[in-house]
Amino acid sequence: MKNDFHFTFANIEAQYRAALDAGYKFITCIEYAERKGSLPDLTIVNRVDVDLSVKKADRLREIFNRLCIKASFFVRLHAPEYNPFSFENYRILKAIRDSGHEIGYHSEIVDQAAIWEEDAEDCLRRDIAILSRMLEIEIKGVASHGGMTGLNNLYFWREKKASDFGLIYEAYDKSPSFNLFDNSVYISDSEWVRWKCYKGGELCQGDRRSFSEHIYEKYPLICLLIHPETYFDRHFYE
Ligand SMILES: [Zn+2]
Repeated sequence: MKNDFHFTFANIEAQYRAALDAGYKFITCIEYAERKGSLPDLTIVNRVDVDLSVKKADRLREIFNRLCIKASFFVRLHAPEYNPFSFENYRILKAIRDSGHEIGYHSEIVDQAAIWEEDAEDCLRRDIAILSRMLEIEIKGVASHGGMTGLNNLYFWREKKASDFGLIYEAYDKSPSFNLFDNSVYISDSEWVRWKCYKGGELCQGDRRSFSEHIYEKYPLICLLIHPETYFDRHFYE
């Protein structure tokens, strides 16, 4: 299909395929935490933040399953845009789980604490328990969502450790046992219509190269963050 747009499902699949052809191995965030000392020479940590659309996350699941690679999908529990327990979304989340992907919690606990006048720690413990129970899995990782409240959900972790909450990691944890963000070349589609990247934790100003344009640099460790709702078949408004 001819298409003037970059962020199509077909194009992102081709980019993943190019990375595989270049010799990269894809791993989940929990695999990174558990195998940090013995990673493949060319590793991509494959992270998906499900910000708005579980249905589009299912499209990514299909791509990953076709390519026989795994990802970590981080799921929100309080999004106005989706109910993880709706008939279709719960079916999809189970399919993601049953395909062998990691499911983590996409945290909004600072927002919750402010809106509900509750304690953020209580919100976190409750959300982890509910997501674990809902999908009958052990939630091992949390990634903070950047929403529209003006508050930063990441700030919670300035004085707290993942292990205090029975977790293995928080995605931006800078402690030596994890430290994925600073250790890697971090490539993200979070600006919707263009890519951005960080090296060693520093934003590379003006570097808008796509994921597949980076792989030819053969960086040993890439953290790739994509969002399902960035992608479409023909155009963004379909
Ligand atoms: Zn998010």
